[in-house]
Amino acid sequence: MVILRIFFRDSYAMNNCIFCKIVDGEIPSSKIYEDGEVLAFLDIHPVNPGHVLVIPKAHYENFISSPDEISGKLLAVAKKIGLAVMVATQSSGFNLSTANGAAAGQEVMHLHFHIIPRKDRAEHQPWNQGVYAPSEAQKVAAAIKEQLQ
Ligand code: AMP
Ligand code: ZN
Repeated sequence: MVILRIFFRDSYAMNNCIFCKIVDGEIPSSKIYEDGEVLAFLDIHPVNPGHVLVIPKAHYENFISSPDEISGKLLAVAKKIGLAVMVATQSSGFNLSTANGAAAGQEVMHLHFHIIPRKDRAEHQPWNQGVYAPSEAQKVAAAIKEQLQ
């Protein structure tokens, strides 16, 4: 039963996934790179021209749920594409990011890395950063380390 539920949940997700439809050619995209496992295409709403999405062809919801071979391969391709994007758009930097989960702003539930070319530091909206209360950093660091054991 559990296996059936997982199968149907995954096939429902894939059938309704806009990026799976792009992989299958059901929805058009401006493709810039393709190999056996990875596809890269222009984001339809670019932060800057040359904003690229790098995705696995197989459907994985996010970074955490993807196998290491796939996320590793995506990162290697993203490195190559990031350099190409920088040169092609005469940019001097780029952001590489992925939202893991809706709370982090993930809207399309198919793993993707954003490559966003940057020409000028001023155009980049920094995240709001705060400070830790006394001993809070130690506690948070200890809690994370415990999970890594
Ligand atoms: P995220 O918010 O990290 O899940 O990013 C999803 C991204 O997918 C957004 O930046 C959208 O602009 C982009 N997007 C959605 N639909 C398409 C599409 N059909 N072709 C290209 N990019 C898309
Ligand atoms: Zn998908």
